[in-house]
Amino acid sequence: FRGQVTLDGPSGTGKSSVARGVAARLGAAYLDTGAMYRAATVAVLTAGADPADAEAVARVVAAARIEVGTDAATETVLVDGVDVAERIRGAEVTRAVSAVSAVPAVRRQLVDQQRALVAGADAVVVEGRDIGTVVLPDATVKIYLTAAPEARAQRRAAQLGLSAPAEIAELAADLRRRDEFDSSRADSPLRPAADAIVVDSTELDQQGVVARVVTLARE
Ligand code: C5P
Repeated sequence: FRGQVTLDGPSGTGKSSVARGVAARLGAAYLDTGAMYRAATVAVLTAGADPADAEAVARVVAAARIEVGTDAATETVLVDGVDVAERIRGAEVTRAVSAVSAVPAVRRQLVDQQRALVAGADAVVVEGRDIGTVVLPDATVKIYLTAAPEARAQRRAAQLGLSAPAEIAELAADLRRRDEFDSSRADSPLRPAADAIVVDSTELDQQGVVARVVTLARE
């Protein structure tokens, strides 16, 4: 395979695992753009800025050095040289990331960086929300991954080792809140590109979704 595969969709669809799996099978590079918005959020929190203050957020992120690797086998996420690969998955960052990623100047900066990161790659899988619509509108294959909200909450719970119904309900509420926030923006990235292939992962396991996307990419 040569070219660009975009993998968009809401959180909890198993998108990251699928994207890594597809990149490994295709021998392609991999870029997790969500990790970049999460890293920007770490910069904001570290600076003590209010994530709801768009001007402060834009200023902090413009001055931050955000480095995200493009190797599917290893995760590299640095902010100003500090390894934040674990911190970006924490609850504090997850709560604030929607507000940070809603700032237009932040999006412009990270979209430019994303395009530069994949520009040289023969084959690359890029994962996010707006990759097929905004970042790489001319990509070779565009996939939009969906799943029922309950399935998404269950999957997230399993990843976090949670099983209590109240915890799963809380995760479902958090997913809905982030979806609503992400899709309430005027430039909402939470919709498939006109030429995207929609893959519903509700009834498929991860292997099944990877196999389906690999087949679509090779067609
Ligand atoms: O994919 P992940 O859940 O790590 O993304 C974290 C957040 O980053 C999303 O909830 C969304 O607000 C934002 N995001 C975005 N555009 C992208 C990728 C992520 O706005 N391309």
